[in-house]
Amino acid sequence: MPDITKTFKAVHRAIKAAASAVNPGEYQAAGTQVQCPHCRHREFNESPNLGGGVNLACRKCYLVLWFAQKPNAL
Ligand SMILES: [Zn+2]
Repeated sequence: MPDITKTFKAVHRAIKAAASAVNPGEYQAAGTQVQCPHCRHREFNESPNLGGGVNLACRKCYLVLWFAQKPNAL
């Protein structure tokens, strides 16, 4: 039943999007909290990077940091 599978996938995506919308957006890499090199903000929005890993977009100035491996969420 491909229609039900599609619906399930859409619901799953929506839940994941909602979860990422409410996450605090703070991360730690190599034992140090991730900080925007431009504005020093410490909250980011996460999205997958097509080249692997994740992008973290600064919630204040929108600079994007690309991590080849996902940093730990705090
Ligand atoms: Zn910034």
